[in-house]
Amino acid sequence: MISPMSRIRSAKRVNAFADSVFGEMTRLAKLHNAVNLSQGFPDFDAPVAVKEAACASIRDEQNQYAPPYGTKALREAIAGDFTARYGVPVIADEQVTVCCGSTEAMMAVMMGCIDPGDEVIVFEPFYENYGPDAVMAGAQPKFVRLRAPDWTFDPDELKRAFSNRTRAIVINSPNNPTGKVFTRAELEVIASLCLQWDVLAISDEIYERIVFDGRPHVPMASLPGMADRTVTTSGLSKTYSVTGWRIGWAIAPASLTGGIRKIHDFLTVAAPTPFMDAGVVALSMPPESYVRLAADYQSKRDLMLDILARHGFTAYRPGGAYYVIADVEQFGFATDTEFAQYLVKEIGVATVPGSSFYIDPASAPMTVRFCFSKKNETLIEADRRLGKLPR
Ligand code: GLN
Repeated sequence: MISPMSRIRSAKRVNAFADSVFGEMTRLAKLHNAVNLSQGFPDFDAPVAVKEAACASIRDEQNQYAPPYGTKALREAIAGDFTARYGVPVIADEQVTVCCGSTEAMMAVMMGCIDPGDEVIVFEPFYENYGPDAVMAGAQPKFVRLRAPDWTFDPDELKRAFSNRTRAIVINSPNNPTGKVFTRAELEVIASLCLQWDVLAISDEIYERIVFDGRPHVPMASLPGMADRTVTTSGLSKTYSVTGWRIGWAIAPASLTGGIRKIHDFLTVAAPTPFMDAGVVALSMPPESYVRLAADYQSKRDLMLDILARHGFTAYRPGGAYYVIADVEQFGFATDTEFAQYLVKEIGVATVPGSSFYIDPASAPMTVRFCFSKKNETLIEADRRLGKLPR
């Protein structure tokens, strides 16, 4: 037994972090045989051509390290796709770094572009990694609230968050967990503050293809003056239903790419070669497939909203991504975590407590997040089980 006084103990930096709530809720879903609407991954198949491309690459012995920053073919495909859709010029060799998922890309960007002592502005509720990522980079996260029902921010509150210490701001649109799609006007407010204070925008656009009701996705890098001060992260996971492949990327100004690449190389060397090869095939899918993807998700959103309304939840209609936030105060539990525990154990539906997306859970509204990236039959089974909720 190692004594508690021993120096054989976890580093201080990890004490600040809780365990990831997503993995924990998926574990509880399995334990209680619940319908898993917690962690954000699809339970339906990935596109056949994309899977075949990965298998072909493995059979073709593409099983060794790829170039650290990603295969040339994938980097060119990422650059070409971004330029074609958004009109922003991207030079693959100078600006694109492929990482092990956009999660690693975000970490590599923070470590590569932020110094200890800097502040990083993060909108709250936030995807849980951003806080720990900033802390691991030695920076201090500073939170600005998005408020229901439309999850917009107060421009004055945002203005007050900027100072000479601010090095970067993290934007995630379409947003996890709220489904908010930032409007061009909102992005312009953020952009003008970035320009005023000489701040980097780190824009997580992993749900860029999942937008509803004819809304456009506006990339931060496409706003005037922002291409030189924006790092965009995205990846294959959500668009091609391959969250386990861990292929993500950062598109950065050339002046920041070197630093991001160094961090990425020392963290993971390179992303998996066969999945990068499959990524080239994925990115060449015809435009109609993305129209179908967004339409399919929109109908799942509508089904989810209908289910939640019938079971007495007040839900906030998402404009994109594949999550819905719903109020749970009316069920009479002390916290949303307690309600989520009850829901997974007694009702058989796993969700993520909304307070886990806030730095101070006690100050968060009482909500849970439902993921609707599921087969309709899965959502219908959740519907049946939610019928057991007392009314
Ligand atoms: N992005 C997914 C979610 O929000 C999964 C994240 C994870 O497992 N870390 O649920």
